[in-house]
Amino acid sequence: MLEPESYLHGRWIGPGAAAQVIDSPVTGAPIARAGSDPSDMGAALAWARDRGGPALRAMGIHDRARMVKALAAYLTEHKEQLYALNPLTGATRKDGWIDIEGGIVTMATMASKARREMPDGMVHLDGGVERLSRDGTFLGRHVAVPLRGVAVQINAFNFPVWGMLEKLAPALLAGVPAIVKPATQTSYLTHAAFRLILDSGLLPEGAAQLIVGPVGDLLDRLGPQDVVSFTGSAATAGRLRAHKGMLDAGTRFIAEQDSLNAAVLGPDSDTDSPEFAQFVKEAAAEMTVKAGQKCTAMRRLIVPEGRVEAVIDALSARLARARPGDPADRETRMGALVSRAQRDDVRAVAARIAAEARQVFAGDAADLPEAGAFLPPQLYLCDDPDAARVVHEAEAFGPVATILPARDMAHAAALANRGGGSLVSSLFTHDPDIARDYVMEAGAWHGRVYIADRDSAGEATGHGSPLPHMIHGGPGRAGGGEELGGVRGILHYMARVAVQGSPRMLTAVGGEWVPGAKERQGPAHPFRRAFDQIGIGETIVTDARQVTLEDIEHFAAFTGDTFYAHMDEAAAAANPFFPGRVAHGYLLLSFAAGLFVDPAPGPVLANTGLNALRFLKPVSPGDSLRVHLTAKRKTRRTEDYGEVAWHAALRNQDDEAVAEYELLTMVAVSG
Ligand code: NAP
Repeated sequence: MLEPESYLHGRWIGPGAAAQVIDSPVTGAPIARAGSDPSDMGAALAWARDRGGPALRAMGIHDRARMVKALAAYLTEHKEQLYALNPLTGATRKDGWIDIEGGIVTMATMASKARREMPDGMVHLDGGVERLSRDGTFLGRHVAVPLRGVAVQINAFNFPVWGMLEKLAPALLAGVPAIVKPATQTSYLTHAAFRLILDSGLLPEGAAQLIVGPVGDLLDRLGPQDVVSFTGSAATAGRLRAHKGMLDAGTRFIAEQDSLNAAVLGPDSDTDSPEFAQFVKEAAAEMTVKAGQKCTAMRRLIVPEGRVEAVIDALSARLARARPGDPADRETRMGALVSRAQRDDVRAVAARIAAEARQVFAGDAADLPEAGAFLPPQLYLCDDPDAARVVHEAEAFGPVATILPARDMAHAAALANRGGGSLVSSLFTHDPDIARDYVMEAGAWHGRVYIADRDSAGEATGHGSPLPHMIHGGPGRAGGGEELGGVRGILHYMARVAVQGSPRMLTAVGGEWVPGAKERQGPAHPFRRAFDQIGIGETIVTDARQVTLEDIEHFAAFTGDTFYAHMDEAAAAANPFFPGRVAHGYLLLSFAAGLFVDPAPGPVLANTGLNALRFLKPVSPGDSLRVHLTAKRKTRRTEDYGEVAWHAALRNQDDEAVAEYELLTMVAVSG
């Protein structure tokens, strides 16, 4: 008998007197006792706020990203421990792959994105510097800082590992400690993953806690710096959203709920088209993977009127092959629902659907043990989808889908939108005009629109897969939340603050040199200084170099760039931007490098790019040029080297800016 424990204020707490007995969805025999007695939630919150929060905030964003990445690697090493428990939830190995490896990959990807897209510092920079004064002494910038509270993460039963990791990763990356509350039904698997996380020793004390069972008075104790991130049914979300304590305190609340996701077969997708075949294949998978217990699963299949029979035939043929069986058996293609109660719920909703749609396929249920939570796929056809209500509103959280015939694409979009807001809608079409119109008609109702066609079929991740790079959530019925989506998902756990002040103050706050802040000369040429020695704001001002007509002509002949603005005085003068012949922008860049480079081998390893190049004023023959090169930002890449971004400002003899850009170099950590 499994006995998953809570982990609160530094202690493991086993099942209590009111623990729930969990039966196997395969045999019906008891497999676990889960549910600790509600503990001292005040102590748990204090443990997170006083220990976990400060420890996480003391780390930089990239340090936390390295920690989360290491955690993902540790979980990968130990994943078989999780696979061993996976069939107990009714899931096959393939189903478990989505949950276990899907969760770990999501965690690792979020960490990589944080390192690539967030600064190697203490705050996140949200957008550029805003100039708020004429002379540039008073500026503004939005930055994001970690919330000072706790992330309470309440998860659904169907993804016990992914559900925890896809939320824990962004909270940790943001610098906010989490209290995870999995659904009791599958809490033993979440508990196993959580125990690995603690065993890894990678997290600071207080960064993560686990509640198996009821949350006691936790929600009453939350404040304005806390976040509740909920995944589950619309009914529970509705109750929690209206929680008085959280409303009064202004606690952030994010919800991912169930939704009636629609897949649309485009009118151009004939029965012999690759899109038709892909539609049928994906629909069958959506109904059978996780036995249909995916929040993103296709519930409504919107099909052109003339192709309804063909879809029924093709889909039924595929579904007939998916007979539910023992999920521990590697040959089994479809597992069981999570519990008999869940199976009974699905049957009840299917019966309501049957009042306005007719069943056109039912999988073979003969010999399936009643003690197990097995349910074969069921397909319905609703002849009058405009008049229907239940098919657009009631979620059968299992292997059930309904076909809705559509007259045209406008009708198809209107039907898709009848779900009242969903996590994902897909469109199977090879026609870009249909795709564009569908996104305009339906995009506002669906968190994600997945457009499937032959060009992407080989690599597409499918209708049902939330990806860490893309937002996961949806409007209205789907909860109005937005998780993941790379840095967007991390920002849920951070506060955006508009900071105003002088360039020097903004440089100090953001950890990135802001033009206008004092330039200071370092003790040596910056190219002679190692990554760790270079200070933000260190500048060299180069000698001046004159640009001659011979230089321009030589460059034109050498590169082949004989554009008239450089070569033909009359034509150049007739151009509204130029006073006459001017130097090539690329010539200026090359001269700039010639001015600031220190040529001997040293810590600078490579020039890796250039950002935000702007040519601000033309340079005429006879003008001269000098460069202010300032260390703007540093990002540690590996143990051995880091990226230094330099602000390069090219100025003429009158000290006017002629070009500006950000130069990226890789610099060795030690000289
Ligand atoms: P649920 O019954 O709404 O439960 C969700 C979570 O809320 C569970 O952890 C549950 O804990 C907890 N909970 C219930 N009442 C609570 C309360 N008063 N205070 C604090 N926590 C409370 O949903 P479920 O049956 O687990 O999951 C199935 C549903 O989730 C489906 O409708 C599915 O569509 C949806 N879902 C949505 C997404 C998404 O990303 N949008 C993902 C997966 C699933 P206990 O288990 O202890 O009751």
